Amino acid sequence: MKFVSTRGKSPAVTAAEAIRRGLAPDGGLYVPDALPVFSASELEALLALPYAELSAAVLERFLPGFSRQELLGYTKKAYASFDDGAVVPLHALGDKLWTMELFHGPTCAFKDVALQILPYLLAASVRKCADDHTVAILVATSGDTGKAALEGFADVPGTKIAVFYPDGGVSDIQRAQMATQGGDNVLVLAVRGNFDDAQTGVKDIFADAALAAELDKAGVVLSSANSINWGRLAPQIAYYFAAYAQLLRAEAVAPGERVDFSVPTGNFGDILAGYFAKRAGLPVGKLLCASNSNNVLTDFLRTGVYDKNRPFLRTMSPSMDILVSSNLERLLYLAAQDGERVSEWMQALRGGGKYAVGEELLNLLTDEGFAAFFASEEETARVIRAVWEGKGYLADPHTAAGLSAAEQYRRESGETRPTVALSTASPFKFAAAMLSSLGGAVPENDFAALDALSAFAKTPVPAPLDALRAREERFKTVVEKDEMRESVRNWLVK
Ligand SMILES: *Cc1c(COP(=O)(O)O)cnc(C)c1O
Repeated sequence: MKFVSTRGKSPAVTAAEAIRRGLAPDGGLYVPDALPVFSASELEALLALPYAELSAAVLERFLPGFSRQELLGYTKKAYASFDDGAVVPLHALGDKLWTMELFHGPTCAFKDVALQILPYLLAASVRKCADDHTVAILVATSGDTGKAALEGFADVPGTKIAVFYPDGGVSDIQRAQMATQGGDNVLVLAVRGNFDDAQTGVKDIFADAALAAELDKAGVVLSSANSINWGRLAPQIAYYFAAYAQLLRAEAVAPGERVDFSVPTGNFGDILAGYFAKRAGLPVGKLLCASNSNNVLTDFLRTGVYDKNRPFLRTMSPSMDILVSSNLERLLYLAAQDGERVSEWMQALRGGGKYAVGEELLNLLTDEGFAAFFASEEETARVIRAVWEGKGYLADPHTAAGLSAAEQYRRESGETRPTVALSTASPFKFAAAMLSSLGGAVPENDFAALDALSAFAKTPVPAPLDALRAREERFKTVVEKDEMRESVRNWLVK
């Protein structure tokens, strides 16, 4: 198996090269040129494994050039920090509906599942490409990704990480999470400006050839940890298998019985991982793409027209506030098998913000099991209330959108297959939105909101969030936009 670009104009590369590069030189995303399939007996053996072993066994097939033993070393280290033995435990809500809690990692959000292991994959990929550079990761963040990346890369040999966030543009908790980050290889800087300023600053640093040459001499190469990297997508495939394994163990499904998954979607990485699991032989029925009122994907999967020309709405599920879902390009390529056409669509998207894939391709996506729904703010709040009042369960706003999609699909289709709704964040990460949805008073301060939600639900605040109050802030520096480059240079060139 090699990795080819979705735009069809770059040479095929190994898994290590795909991870080291992130993006293909022609601007496309790397996808496997042949999809692995587990035989029935392989699948049975796989589903009996504990999470770290299962993850290594799945990754081995999606990362040729990495041995099972090597991968097991990484998965064991990556998932040891999760606070639940199952790593991604299911929670039964009745009526053949479960949530899969992907938020038991160190930052209480699902990005930990991929970002806890990516540093090992990236450092190993650089070595496999006969490169002895230190990989320095630069991240511009509006909050969650930065912290998850910091936790993943902190003190991983052969790597360094710098995170830039907009000064005053993240929540109290997000700022505390980043400012108190431990690790000898980390740098956290607040940037005077908004998220776009931080993001543009990082892009400019990546594009700076003179700086790259200087860093090269110092033995450093810059890289990014965002979700277009194959090394971030591949680890997400495993938890679909883990969900199925838990259902089998609970005798909630018979072997081979199909299970639907509902996925709160932003950049389309999480749901695409489910599609790879399905193609690899896991009995997946529907893949329900759940959006909030930024419902560009709902429209696309219903009409075949992707149109980002619409207002950008701020919702209580900010990780789904996205108008361009970068990983959708991978699905389009897998469906069309035509880099030329994908290039044309992406060009049209860049130009007029819009493209149409045609009825034939849309039908193919529907046949493959994709269906799409969205939840308005009112609907999200309604689901949060209903799940709390009916089941005593706190579902964060992203998870609530997924639960809404599952409900809408059942109502529309009359189907009642077992359904797993992916739960992507701890409700305590969005305590204020939870309180207001549940009809409670919302304190001004983030930490007070944590305590209020805890008292309301009689559930303790998750340890990683609670512990923030007691931790000392290491990083207090605020830089101007035009000081970002020099800060990076000073940090990397001794
Ligand atoms: C990133 C994120 C999502 C969206 O996942 P994608 O892979 O980008 O589709 C959903 N919920 C939460 C809480 C997230 O952090």
